[in-house]
Amino acid sequence: MIRKTWTLEEKDKKYLWHPFTQMREWVSELPVIIERGTGSFLIDTNNKCYIDGTSSIWVNIHGHRKKAIDKALAAQLKKIAHSTLLGLSNIPAILLAEKLIVLVHRSGLTSLSKVFYSDNGSTAVEVGLKMAFHYWQLKGGRHRKKTKFLTLMNAYHGDTIGSVSLGGIDLFHRIYKPLLFESFKAPSPDCYRCPLNKTYPDCQLTCTGKVEEIFKRHHKEIAAMIIEPLVQAAAGMIIAPSGYLKKIRALCTQYHVLLIADEVATGFGRTGCMFACEHEEVIPDIMAIAKGITGGYLPLAATLVTEDIYAAFLGEYGEFKTFFHGHSYTGNPLGCAAAIANIEIFEKEGVLDNLQPKIALFEQLLVPLKDHPHVGDIRQKGLIAGIELVKDKNKKTPYRLEEKAGIRTCLEARKMGLLLRPIGNVIILMPPLSISKADLKKLVYIVARAINIITL
Ligand SMILES: *Cc1c(COP(=O)(O)O)cnc(C)c1O
Repeated sequence: MIRKTWTLEEKDKKYLWHPFTQMREWVSELPVIIERGTGSFLIDTNNKCYIDGTSSIWVNIHGHRKKAIDKALAAQLKKIAHSTLLGLSNIPAILLAEKLIVLVHRSGLTSLSKVFYSDNGSTAVEVGLKMAFHYWQLKGGRHRKKTKFLTLMNAYHGDTIGSVSLGGIDLFHRIYKPLLFESFKAPSPDCYRCPLNKTYPDCQLTCTGKVEEIFKRHHKEIAAMIIEPLVQAAAGMIIAPSGYLKKIRALCTQYHVLLIADEVATGFGRTGCMFACEHEEVIPDIMAIAKGITGGYLPLAATLVTEDIYAAFLGEYGEFKTFFHGHSYTGNPLGCAAAIANIEIFEKEGVLDNLQPKIALFEQLLVPLKDHPHVGDIRQKGLIAGIELVKDKNKKTPYRLEEKAGIRTCLEARKMGLLLRPIGNVIILMPPLSISKADLKKLVYIVARAINIITL
């Protein structure tokens, strides 16, 4: 009997369902199958080498096959791959918790004192929202009415139902509406397409006015406000104007609303500081971190909270104040070992100091692109940038999604050895922090060429 040997490509198309992917399109196209990586590069099964322009979707920090992380994982594997945190503890989970608290304190987030692990950004947010809700229930009395959340339009907090409820990206979230809980929504701090038609700084942050209005009327019902500090990443890198986050913090404090910072995308140096909250000296009550926590090696996440929130859950066993939440892989020793190594690299290699000249170069490289007739806006913070393509620059007319301006740009870039993934008409650039200046130049050069090609 002759059996056909399936190629990897055929097996992929036969068995796999890819995330955020129209599979009919996928199966009609040539897939890139990654075999290995090194530094800022990914290498596919045809031996073609690409710059990892998205840090493997926003997770990689120090490059692929980083020796110190490889070694830490190998050493941990010789001890144990996994044991549970339910009723037991493990060494890497303890040491990482200590490291995270020291790290956030050094970043000025001095009131965060406890670490609750999970395994991805969505669950880190779910944990935060459940804790915020539960906290007010435990406080009792009139506080028990604090059951709702305030979120921002265009927000993205993950794909589980609680996180989707807090989200504001219509394309992804609309269909699930019947499953979601209702939240209060405030306008996005989107200066390019200001929902209030104002210009910064003349606006004096009018968009925070809506938050204040909602708080004034409803703070007795609001448990927490959740925000992606400084950068609404999945919205297409919408960057809040200076002072916005600080104002939000002040309003939350004034109206007794907890502030949840979703640092899943912005954490671990991406914006130039270890955490985005640091830029405005803002301390959240709850902070969700994931993506970069293991340097992009393994799925691990954490929700950090203040002592006050932690303490509200303390009581006699029979009072059942326990936070009944946990995941099979909570505090996974391999993930924690990778995360410890990741943080040590920041310290040993002075990563954030070395990053500042790269950020300056990045900014400089992007300047000429601003004049392109189909580049409407370039939004950059740290080593993150979003380039918004528009059909008509003066009118800010977007391309219709069906025109696939973003997708076509990324396909052109791919041919030239750069892997990117757009968000609608926004080209997202988010290379590993470890990218060399030469490769950063190459990255921006390829993007510019790709945009030229598709807008001809
Ligand atoms: C990616 C992301 C999430 C979700 O994280 P996952 O690990 O993909 O579940 C949540 N919040 C923000 C801001 C993100 O960028």
